[in-house]
Amino acid sequence: MWNMADIFSKKKRSEIMSKIRSKDTKPEIIAKLILKEFEYQPKEFGRPDFINYKKKIVLFIDGCFWHCCPIHSKIPEQNKGYWIPKLERNLTRAKEVEMAYKMAGWRVVRIWEHELSKLRNRLSFQKLV
Ligand SMILES: [Zn+2]
Repeated sequence: MWNMADIFSKKKRSEIMSKIRSKDTKPEIIAKLILKEFEYQPKEFGRPDFINYKKKIVLFIDGCFWHCCPIHSKIPEQNKGYWIPKLERNLTRAKEVEMAYKMAGWRVVRIWEHELSKLRNRLSFQKLV
C-alpha cells in the first residue's frame, strides 16, 4: 500500500488531504501527483497524462470539452453535424484505451480538467501541469 509518511509529516499530510477533499475528487490520487510518483506525459499508448510504471497506474485528465463533461460540455451550435460524431469518436477511443490498459492489468484513473484546475489554484500545484 502506498504511504506518504516518509515524505510528509502526519500533520502536513492531513492538512493536504483536508484541502483536497471534496465529493468529486480522488484525494489519494491527487496526493500521489503532489508527491511526483507519476511521470508526466509519457510516450505511451493512448497518451495518458501521467503514468506510474511501477504500480501500473495510468491517469488521464479529461478535457471538459473533448470528453463531454456533464457540467461544462457545450457542443458548438454551429457545425453540430461535425462536432457530435467527432466527440463521440473521442469518447469511444478513450473507452478503448481504458479497456486495453485494464486488460493488461493496469489501473486507470480519470480526472476532469475542471477538478484539476480547481485543485491547482487552491494548492498551487505549479508543477503539476
Ligand atoms: Zn468540466
